[in-house]
Amino acid sequence: MPIRWRLTLWFALILCVILILSGIVLHFLLQRYLNNQVDDNLRVHSARIHGTLNPQEIPDPLDYDVIHAKLPPINEFATPGLYIQFIDQNGNVVVKSDSLGEQELPVNPSLLEKGFAGEVVIEAVAAGDGAKVRIMVSPLRLKDQVLLLEVAQSLNPIDATMSQVRWALITSILVALTLAAVSGGMMVRSALSPVSQITRTARSIETSTDLARRVGYHGPKDEIGQLAATFDQMIEHLHQVFQSQKHFVADASHELRGPLTVIRGNLDLLKRNLSEPERGESIRVIETEIVSMAKIVSDLLTLAEVESGQSGRQELVSLKEILSDEIERVKSLAGNHGINIGRQENLEVKGDAQKLKQLLGNLVDNAARYTPQGSTITLSLYRDGEWACLEVTDNGPGIAPEHLPHIFDRFYRVDKARSRASGGTGLGLAIVKGIAEQHRGRVTVTSELGKGSTFTVWLGL
Ligand code: ADP
Repeated sequence: MPIRWRLTLWFALILCVILILSGIVLHFLLQRYLNNQVDDNLRVHSARIHGTLNPQEIPDPLDYDVIHAKLPPINEFATPGLYIQFIDQNGNVVVKSDSLGEQELPVNPSLLEKGFAGEVVIEAVAAGDGAKVRIMVSPLRLKDQVLLLEVAQSLNPIDATMSQVRWALITSILVALTLAAVSGGMMVRSALSPVSQITRTARSIETSTDLARRVGYHGPKDEIGQLAATFDQMIEHLHQVFQSQKHFVADASHELRGPLTVIRGNLDLLKRNLSEPERGESIRVIETEIVSMAKIVSDLLTLAEVESGQSGRQELVSLKEILSDEIERVKSLAGNHGINIGRQENLEVKGDAQKLKQLLGNLVDNAARYTPQGSTITLSLYRDGEWACLEVTDNGPGIAPEHLPHIFDRFYRVDKARSRASGGTGLGLAIVKGIAEQHRGRVTVTSELGKGSTFTVWLGL
């Protein structure tokens, strides 16, 4: 069952229970109030009759006509349906009010018994044809005789009122329920409409794989609005990831196609009758291209690993040791580059030593590769607040400002031919960035054309 119907049904059900309970309470209180009014009325009249019938003024032997004459008048407008009658010990009606006409009050033996036993009792007694009267009995001693005074009031007006009230309650409950269910259903529907919108968008993305679609919800920023906005942000993110994956696959294929074409051309050459030096040259070229392809594949694997989102090894790594090892390595390779050692503090971070070595190696290799012979490379390690900073500075040609935002992108090179000629894959800085982020850090660069560049890796301490 759709959530809309379920919510509406629950809403209507709870409202129904509340309305029925309050209807029952209202009915009960009203009935009690009206019954109490009748009972009070009966008590007042009974007391008045007891007061009027002064035993001194009653002749002996009893004269029922005198009693009848002494009965207080009944105001039909103030107390309609009020009846009075006296019953003697034989159960005969000896006096009755004119309002009874030819009729007598219905007889209830147990009520009479209680009355003659001296009790004052009020009870409702059936009077035939579904009518009921409420009768109050009280014993009255006149001379040497005990008569039973019965003061009664018809309950018909109250029953009619209560029946009207019941109908009014049932009708208003039904109307309220219908209105609540319809308006509640409409409210739930409009509240959930963005959810259906999200479902439709998700379904259309699933069937068409078009990640450019959005829910585009413009309603209030409530929970549903936030869900729609989050969904759009998630799709936007996925879109960007897919786009970058697509470009990445295209770039990687393109990078691998170059060496493959060269290898294939040289293999074709080798099939011909080449002189020994030409054959040697072709084999050398094939070897160079294979080395270049192996480097690309190895860099791609490293990149995939560092960008997988997994944190990798978590050992305590001495950055000072990594820096010293790198200085040793680079001294043996750097040829005509000068190596400077800047600040070298004793700092340790948690992470993967191999990866951190690779990060520093990539930065130093770049500094050596893109600066002319005789330039100086400075390596520093220092603390800046909660960060350990590894810095590689060179005084080479620098990087133009328009290239700076892109140099950490995969396969981005400022000078493609130069990068390739020096064995670059265009993945070095992307790997540096990936390793830094894997260690909850980041990498920044400042560069000025003609003056040099500084790459700083910030690692959380
Ligand atoms: P590559 O394999 O081409 O070196 P990188 O991702 O390591 O790829 O570097 C991207 C580009 O950034 C390089 O092609 C180069 O143009 C530029 N670059 C990197 N480091 C330096 C540097 N120290 N000085 C000048 N240019 C640099």
